[in-house]
Amino acid sequence: MVDVIVIGAGFAGVTAARELGVAGRQVLILEGRARAGGRTWRQIQHGHPFELGGAYIHWLQPHVWAELTRYGLGLAPTSEQEVTEVRVWSEGALHRLDVETGYGLLGEAYAALYAADPQPGECFPLPYQQATSPAWAAVAELSLAQQVERLNLPPLQRDLLNAMLTTDMSAPPGEGALLELLRLRAALGTDDFTRLAEATGTFMIEGGTAALLDRMLADSRAELCTEAW
Ligand SMILES: Cc1cc2nc3c(=O)[nH]c(=O)nc-3n(C[C@H](O)[C@H](O)[C@H](O)COP(=O)(O)OP(=O)(O)OC[C@H]3O[C@@H](n4cnc5c(N)ncnc54)[C@H](O)[C@@H]3O)c2cc1C
Repeated sequence: MVDVIVIGAGFAGVTAARELGVAGRQVLILEGRARAGGRTWRQIQHGHPFELGGAYIHWLQPHVWAELTRYGLGLAPTSEQEVTEVRVWSEGALHRLDVETGYGLLGEAYAALYAADPQPGECFPLPYQQATSPAWAAVAELSLAQQVERLNLPPLQRDLLNAMLTTDMSAPPGEGALLELLRLRAALGTDDFTRLAEATGTFMIEGGTAALLDRMLADSRAELCTEAW
């Protein structure tokens, strides 16, 4: 006898199933694909693990971080590589900048982005909450690419900023929401783009996203039906 049917076995669906399971409900998860995980997908290829979707976590994502504590999961070792050059494709050519110049341009560009209206603190006076102030409504539909265009930066600096924002968002700036960047900036408490890069691309889960997903699925005691339709 099933009490609740959850559609989709991404992290949202599995979290719902886990909460329901812990509350004593019998859950059936119907997943369209052949696997659980949704936009996270850890694969072993040629003997090496690969995360083909979401992978990085940070304590600025308090709910995800709490799950690590709950299941006693640690962090995967991070490979530290020194940046020796900044390269950017701009106006039909590859530009190679020394680190001081590249980081200087990026620092200015991020500062301009955060100084533009609306500012992070206006939208997120309490960064751990959803946007609560009226300021967010005006930019709710705005992409990062649209906001970057408003800054009228020189082409090289604009393209450098867009490249870095692509790694911050794991998506082209045209698909990244300005609000998400403002939320991250409000939580970070600094304009320093290297701290943002650390927050969005440094820490991985020991055993990968699948290690967490498998534990949550086990706790849910749900029946998982893949290729459901
Ligand atoms: C390339 C990439 C990199 C990313 N990097 C990070 C990162 O480093 N850190 C981070 O925190 N986040 C990252 N993300 C974002 C993160 O992966 C997602 O926010 C998160 O996985 C979304 O989980 P979800 O459960 O909300 O949705 P999804 O993962 O999309 O899950 C939805 C599930 O529902 C299923 N489904 C949908 N419709 C139906 C239906 N009608 N019937 C049955 N099943 C259905 C889908 O097949 C899917 O399995 C990244 C995303 C991508 C794509």
